[in-house]
Amino acid sequence: MSLEFLRNAHEDKVALVVLGGPSAQYWKNIKADVIIGVNGVNDKIKDLDYWLCTENMAYPSQHIDERRYQTIMEMFNRTGADCRLVNSKSVKFLKNKENVIAIDRIGVEKEDLHLYSFRRFEEGLINGSLLKSQGMRGAVRVGTVALQAIHLAGILGCAEVHTIGFDLFFQDKHHWYEYPIYEETRFFTEDMFIDYNGIRTMWFWLETADYMKIAEDVMIRDGLDWTDHSHGLLKKEELRAASKIKMCFYGETIIGKKEYEEHRQFCEVCE
Ligand SMILES: [Zn+2]
Repeated sequence: MSLEFLRNAHEDKVALVVLGGPSAQYWKNIKADVIIGVNGVNDKIKDLDYWLCTENMAYPSQHIDERRYQTIMEMFNRTGADCRLVNSKSVKFLKNKENVIAIDRIGVEKEDLHLYSFRRFEEGLINGSLLKSQGMRGAVRVGTVALQAIHLAGILGCAEVHTIGFDLFFQDKHHWYEYPIYEETRFFTEDMFIDYNGIRTMWFWLETADYMKIAEDVMIRDGLDWTDHSHGLLKKEELRAASKIKMCFYGETIIGKKEYEEHRQFCEVCE
């Protein structure tokens, strides 16, 4: 089975992409026809329509004696989603290969993104520009798996794509599910972190936000309506997708006007 088989499988529907950041805990508040989850989201939502894992699992699969990689391989082998889309280099590490589609990623520099479409699948799901700043060992592309999940929603023919858990900054927790934290490893260096505009984030995520500004122009051209609900770095960087929501999920639960005014003084989301 290939991705071409899924083209327009959910034409004009609403897709929700659930990502790893803490804001994803509110995913149930968003009404959608199709739910796409990435990585460890498969531990929180057992019946995903699509699960996407685009990382190359060669290194984790060979280091399951380390707790960090054991957790990652447990996540990788978790079943439950109707359809699992996995990096073609990683499929051989799966114990159960039912309902699995092998996918590749294609690196697209920011300047070239307009030559691609969120509606077409060519050699692979779109991966961002090569990281220019510090913090990662080896060649890494920005955008994160979120970019590939949005591209998937476009190929599925969805009219709208909503994202949550696309925080791109650190709060008390790194992920909303149990997962290894971001720290110095074989792939990450300790100078990857940065204090920026009042938040703690990573260089990698700053470049991701920059890439997503271009990506949202291309999505608009392609008729894919993107709304982000994460209230994180994308909102700070004033992406249109992240500026549509005027009230946070907590704000929506408040009934009294006085109570709302009090909340609003501290909330960066509620207007
Ligand atoms: Zn609020």
